[in-house]
Amino acid sequence: MKKQLIISLSIITSLFTGCATTTNPSASGVERKQFMMLSEQQVESMSTESYLATLKEASSKKTLNTDAAQVARVRGISQKLIQHSGQFRQDALQWKWEVNVEKNDQVNAYCMPGGKIMVFTGLIEKLKATDDELAAVIGHEIAHALREHGRERMSIASAQQMGLAGLAVLAGASSNKTAAAAGVQAAALGSSLFFALPNSREQEREADRIGLELSARAGFNPNAAVSLWQKMGQQGGSNPPEFLSTHPSNDARITDLQKMIPSMMPLYQEAIRKK
Ligand SMILES: [Zn+2]
Repeated sequence: MKKQLIISLSIITSLFTGCATTTNPSASGVERKQFMMLSEQQVESMSTESYLATLKEASSKKTLNTDAAQVARVRGISQKLIQHSGQFRQDALQWKWEVNVEKNDQVNAYCMPGGKIMVFTGLIEKLKATDDELAAVIGHEIAHALREHGRERMSIASAQQMGLAGLAVLAGASSNKTAAAAGVQAAALGSSLFFALPNSREQEREADRIGLELSARAGFNPNAAVSLWQKMGQQGGSNPPEFLSTHPSNDARITDLQKMIPSMMPLYQEAIRKK
């Protein structure tokens, strides 16, 4: 009985040692502890594989980086944002960042774990996005990657899948085995989890805050986040932008952004002065 209790406790402890925050609070003040069951390496290798497959497919369809000026514009904006990622986590400066543009009418963009960015031409063209607005959306995506929200969602989904039955079977197993089993689960589902699971409202709020700070520090006007989301909301009617399926949004988001912006303006003004 006593032994069982100790085993249960050790499993619970092993699950919750995964709880830490991935980024420094910096000016945006995001410091929520996160549940991480899968390792950063597991998630990153899954993402890299999926991203490479996407590039290969787009390349064979001749939809990858078709407009040199557009690619240069998106990469230039992204680089300025990435330069400030160390503000939130030093290791991000060593990530193998990649930025590509896919010819696709969907209004969409994403940054996979480890810094693999994709922007769809639909987002640039349909929204007639300004540089500041593109920085708002790319900064928001980079923020999701810095916070490792994809890994967090995959971890939660794996834990739910394993469920209590899984924990019972694993009783007596080492914590490494628990993590390995979760890894096998996630690998079986593949990176489809990354796209299938929407971000939570809390993750969205964090990405908005960190994204705003990245934009401001890189010299892009944080107010563009508001006009960007307004444009996004005006799209589609019965066909809402793809972006909204993984980034649940509502009117409260714009109000929240408007509240956050004043605290970011000094960073923006300082960046502009240095230009
Ligand atoms: Zn988001």
